[in-house]
This record gives sequence, C-alpha cells and structure tokens, in this order.
Amino acid sequence: MSAAPVFLETFKCHWCQKHRPKFRVHKLESNQIICDYCLMWQQQALDVLGGAPPRGCQYCLTTWEVLKERSPGEQVRMYVLSKDGILQLLCKDCVKVYLPKTAELYKGTQFGSESLKLL
Ligand SMILES: [Zn+2]
Ligand SMILES: [Zn+2]
Repeated sequence: MSAAPVFLETFKCHWCQKHRPKFRVHKLESNQIICDYCLMWQQQALDVLGGAPPRGCQYCLTTWEVLKERSPGEQVRMYVLSKDGILQLLCKDCVKVYLPKTAELYKGTQFGSESLKLL
C-alpha cells in the first residue's frame, strides 16, 4: 500500500473566511458555516456585554492589558459589532477598519456620531 496523502475536508467559515477542518466548524440553520474561533468570540462579546472584562480585540488580537497600557489614564472602550447575525469584539482602531461596512448601521446614532465620528 502506498502512502497516499490524506486530504482533510475543510469548510470555509462564513465570517472569518478561513478554511477549517470539519471538527472545527458548525453548520447553522441558515446553512452558513461558522468556525469555533468565531463562536468563541461571539461568546466573548456576549460576556463583555454582560459586564465581564474583555479578553482583547478579535481582529488585531491585542490583549486587553496591552490596550489599556496604550492609553494610560483613559477609559479604554471595546466595541461589540453585529456582523451577519453574530457578535464581534473589536478595539477602537479595528472598529474603524470595519467602518465602511458598519457606517450604514450606526449612522444617525449616538454611537455613530460620538464614537465613530460619523457625520
Ligand atoms: Zn470563523
Ligand atoms: Zn483591534
């Protein structure tokens, strides 16, 4: 028997666009594929909304401790964004990266004008 390479079947996560092996993804009722990473951060965002200290930013992976060190004396804010039905936890810098996508959502809101500086 020759040693054939084993191809692991992978599935693309609808949210982070990464390909993950089957055991790391879940299929939602909407037929969208979500991976354990995105699920973990959705749970983390929920915890933060519930008052738990954030772990850090899901996008740039900066930890909460580092984010606080960068802005001494300031209150560091994290942003929970809803993307296609799941929640994401982002720092101030990363939320700006997402701005073009989220601007429509927050236009005219207090969050939009004060935090995101939308006009
Ligand atoms: Zn994912
Ligand atoms: Zn970030």
